[in-house]
Amino acid sequence: MQAAVYHGIEDIRIETVPTPEPGPDEAVMRVGAAGICGTDLRIYGNGHHRIPEGETRILGHELAGEIVAVGANVTALKPGMRVGIAPNMGCGHCPQCVAGWTNLCADYTAFGISLNGAFAEYMLITQEAIEQGNIVPIPADVPMHVAALAEPLSCVMNGQDAVNIRPGDSVMVVGAGPIGLMHVQLARLSGARQVIMSELSDTRLEEAAAQGADVLINPARDDVKARVLEATDGEGANVVIIAAPAARAQEEALDWVSRQGRINLFGGLPKDRPTIQFNSNLVHYKQLMVTGTTGSNVRQYRASMGLIVAGRIKLDEIARPRLPLDQIHEGIARSKSGKDMRVLIEPSA
Ligand SMILES: [Zn+2]
Ligand SMILES: [Zn+2]
Repeated sequence: MQAAVYHGIEDIRIETVPTPEPGPDEAVMRVGAAGICGTDLRIYGNGHHRIPEGETRILGHELAGEIVAVGANVTALKPGMRVGIAPNMGCGHCPQCVAGWTNLCADYTAFGISLNGAFAEYMLITQEAIEQGNIVPIPADVPMHVAALAEPLSCVMNGQDAVNIRPGDSVMVVGAGPIGLMHVQLARLSGARQVIMSELSDTRLEEAAAQGADVLINPARDDVKARVLEATDGEGANVVIIAAPAARAQEEALDWVSRQGRINLFGGLPKDRPTIQFNSNLVHYKQLMVTGTTGSNVRQYRASMGLIVAGRIKLDEIARPRLPLDQIHEGIARSKSGKDMRVLIEPSA
């Protein structure tokens, strides 16, 4: 089969590699679509501690496909089934796994990171992925490129679960990339009375408006705090979600949020500059809650796929461009440029 094989930093090669064959407790799927995520870009640019030097890996963890072969002991899956897969598996017995947070297991495995992922025509599905409930069937009318985005949507859900959006809340999202737009849709679904979007690109602000953002702020020309206060009758936003690697926004969120407000630091900061100035008196006197989230658990993945299947969240506009496997380098470049939405690779196209 054809695969985009990661050999090391900034070294991904399109190669012919053996097509995986399932062991007795495994399955193989034909990849329908796989999103290029910030994590893939970080591995491409900086490497990853779960990919030791000298080892190769097929990246890609936002994925959907069709089962083509199953091992003799596998009863839950059948060839022809269309599935999405939550990419993280845990050890099964540590406190985080027991609580259902396999994504926070110190001893995790994950497709596209410690296991081969979806930037290939076929992917091996491991026994633990099947047994831990990571494989989620999808109906025929949900396209692969949309189903693949259940994974980033589940990360968005994890961020919003942490800040507990309630009907009537004013919700501010910083960053109108694909993730920010998913935050807009999910916040509206959770009952936000208003979604405020702050974003430096006017094109992206327009996309946010099309996805349901009500108040558009461009920090390049607007006084963000003044605009937020104006939009919220001087109260500030009840929830602020920073969906961009923006240290300044993380600091200033304390000014934009209302008393008893909740903040989610959704995006990580660059590895070499992770420290911010944080006015802890604002957290204290405004009685704030500041949360961080990373990835998602299998429950959130299933719930996200449920929203997609039910048509409550629409990701078609966010799933673009869609490129064949041999254009993965183009895909990486376009993903980095920040001009496109979620770039997807379609290896079987
Ligand atoms: Zn991802
Ligand atoms: Zn564990």
